[in-house]
Amino acid sequence: MANEVSVVTPEQRDLAVVEVSSRLVACNGGGGVLGHPLTYYEVGPEGVAVCNYCDKKFVLAHPTGEAHG
Ligand SMILES: [Zn+2]
Repeated sequence: MANEVSVVTPEQRDLAVVEVSSRLVACNGGGGVLGHPLTYYEVGPEGVAVCNYCDKKFVLAHPTGEAHG
């Protein structure tokens, strides 16, 4: 199974919290002159990862392999 990576899009650049669907996320600040080097983060057991550069918070929206009736 390939590793899925959620990358911040320019539309998400101004959001303080970004919902992601994969545990592996990549942030470059949204790209452009306001961006920062592309950095990868892994969402931890609490379902949250925070970017060291832009303090953007990544929240795991739909954990895979888990179904609720
Ligand atoms: Zn960032």
